[in-house]
Amino acid sequence: MLDTQHLPLYKNPYDFVPLEGGINRPCHAHPQDTWDFQARTGEMVCRLTTQSPLFIHAEGAQGEWQHPRQFFHRNSKPVIPASSLKGLIRSVAEVAANACLGSLSEEYVGRTGLCLATVDLVPPEYQTCARQDDLCFCCALFGMVERGAAPEEKEKKAPLAGRVFFADGEAGSDTRLVQVEMPAYRTRDGSLAPVTGQPRPSHGDFYLDTQGHILGRKFYYHHQDYRTTREFYRPDFPRNLVIETREGSFTFKVHFENLSDDELAILAYSLHLEDGIAHHFGFGKALGLGAVKIEITEMSLWSFQTSPQGIVGPSRFLSYKLPDSSQRTESPGYWAEKGRRLWGSRGPSADQARNKFLEILKWPQTENFKYPGRDWFSKVQGVTLAEYQGRVHQMAPGTAAQPQPGTRLRGTVKTVSPERGFAFVTSPSGTDVYVPLREVRDQEPLQLGQEVEFTLGTDAQGRHQARAVVIVRR
Ligand SMILES: [Zn+2]
Repeated sequence: MLDTQHLPLYKNPYDFVPLEGGINRPCHAHPQDTWDFQARTGEMVCRLTTQSPLFIHAEGAQGEWQHPRQFFHRNSKPVIPASSLKGLIRSVAEVAANACLGSLSEEYVGRTGLCLATVDLVPPEYQTCARQDDLCFCCALFGMVERGAAPEEKEKKAPLAGRVFFADGEAGSDTRLVQVEMPAYRTRDGSLAPVTGQPRPSHGDFYLDTQGHILGRKFYYHHQDYRTTREFYRPDFPRNLVIETREGSFTFKVHFENLSDDELAILAYSLHLEDGIAHHFGFGKALGLGAVKIEITEMSLWSFQTSPQGIVGPSRFLSYKLPDSSQRTESPGYWAEKGRRLWGSRGPSADQARNKFLEILKWPQTENFKYPGRDWFSKVQGVTLAEYQGRVHQMAPGTAAQPQPGTRLRGTVKTVSPERGFAFVTSPSGTDVYVPLREVRDQEPLQLGQEVEFTLGTDAQGRHQARAVVIVRR
């Protein structure tokens, strides 16, 4: 039996904000290049202030990592590219507005020798929007890319530009260069790559629930001491990489057109989060880099007036600077607060998502979240981190009657989904246990009704899962 008393408890550096069980579709695409005089059009000026060093890759950053690795720049000045800012804000808006899983990349994930598209891992109701007449809140607001439309559907599936436009983040005069050492390893092709402590979607144990679906929207915990990356240092890591991070402030503008009040509220909240949490951004999040605070320092809304020549055009009519009262309906604080309330008014499953979001993005954060170092693995052999964490869960009072992970059990195959790589087995106590098919030791595929023997293990969330499965009766 593993002695868990004398080993530290590790926590993954990220966690998942649970999905809410469905999206309110459709939201409507606003006609492009058309002013809606009743809607909200204007501009925000935002200030991003780093809380831990920030690193954004330089352009064309592929292949061998140079030494030191430079921050993204234009005209030899460090900038945060507009596309990165948009991605960051959209990922928050997606959770705040319960949108589709649009920011999930469509890379292919290898499992059990099968190639599974990420699309298979997303529950049907959260699939990325593909049609202009069936959009989620965020695709309607931020736009969407074209996804292989058949000719007769070209119009409905055409890419959509969205109504929110970001400019690059420009470094303030207080911004300074801070060199941070990253542990590195040599890849199979001989080039150097940094150890970022980030898992891949192919690590099913970390990503999937018992239905084979993604656990939710992934966010990285903040932690204070990014310098503890030294724990990753190993003799076989040939040398360390130096990255040129930045600390200080950046300023960027966000232009928006034809937004409904709810859209402006969600956008303002996604930029200007409440006190006690911070955005997490850029490279090395798992190691504690990239904690940033964003505030909307200025906001202007435009009205549309007819000029003496009879031309209708926008003219600036409001401009408010923070800090100002969130009571004033035109202030940035009012809109951010309205966005926060919108999220809070959707019901219990939205509250659950929100609580998890607040927990993960808590700042300042005093706890450390990381994978164990080499030392831990040499002490704990033959047990995965997930199983280890599961054992610690199991030791909690009131769970003593449960079969302990590590126990060898028998069960009957209840369902099999070869194309998705999992099955369920009914255990003697009547509970269903999830079986990743890669855990089946026999060559033949599992069949319904077969009796199998397995070791009870747990996934990253401490839920039961079968390992080392063998068929005992056909
Ligand atoms: Zn969408």
